[in-house]
Amino acid sequence: MTVASPQREIPVGEVVLALEGVSRVYGTEVQVRALDDVSLDIRAGEFLSIIGPSGSGKSTMLGLLGVLDLPTDGAIRVRGTDVTRLADAERSRLRGEAIGFVFQQFHLIPHLTALGNVETALLYRGLTPRERRSRAMSALEQVGLGERHDHRPVQMSGGEQQRVAIARAISTDPGVVLADEPTGALDSRNAENVMQIFADLQSPERAICIVTHDMDVADATRRRISMLDGKIVADEMLGGPSGGLAETGAGAGS
Ligand code: ADP
Ligand code: MG
Repeated sequence: MTVASPQREIPVGEVVLALEGVSRVYGTEVQVRALDDVSLDIRAGEFLSIIGPSGSGKSTMLGLLGVLDLPTDGAIRVRGTDVTRLADAERSRLRGEAIGFVFQQFHLIPHLTALGNVETALLYRGLTPRERRSRAMSALEQVGLGERHDHRPVQMSGGEQQRVAIARAISTDPGVVLADEPTGALDSRNAENVMQIFADLQSPERAICIVTHDMDVADATRRRISMLDGKIVADEMLGGPSGGLAETGAGAGS
């Protein structure tokens, strides 16, 4: 996979999302410790991937980072606030403001146009319909789909559908975009295209975090976290102008 602007030097800022000693145990009788005492800092400006074999806990960790799930133990900090201690409504509000999520299977609403799909992320935010439309259009333009705004999912390729899902995730201007296997349902050309979109969406104000089992995808990011058996086993900086691999202490698990 060749991504034209994969590892731009983006200044890394403050911690926007953090796990502190987070564990997640599934089940009651037969228990699975899907995540085992993991700590991780994600900073503004970072472009990182999470890799590891199937069942190593990648999706569990991303779901917790995205506050789609709650841990059995530990704290999840969104811009410093431990969301595990908040009431449901407050937690949902903070998640909606801070985090955009992209799924492997796009999760678009079939009867809505691309524009309509992006607009769904902007409901209940006190925007006028006109403001909603203009923000959704601008998000679609950022992923190169401005001209296709009136197409429905069935009229688009998988790659285009995923770009609509990315537009939906960034329409609220979140500080963090989390994506679980976003290229997993795409052929290699579309996968490359989607990774290029993520690379282009990097900014000093935004962190982008991608779960993948595809090393080509991971190689297009700047920091790579490896998981095994519910733990972080490596946390590396990739390539960049200095070249080669270097260990990073920043945010490595305990
Ligand atoms: P990955 O995304 O790396 O493939 P997951 O986070 O999906 O890994 O799963 C980690 C472990 O937790 C696996 O053993 C999986 O079977 C288990 N697991 C995941 N989700 C659930 C669930 N809802 N209920 C029970 N076990 C689960
Ligand atoms: Mg998974």
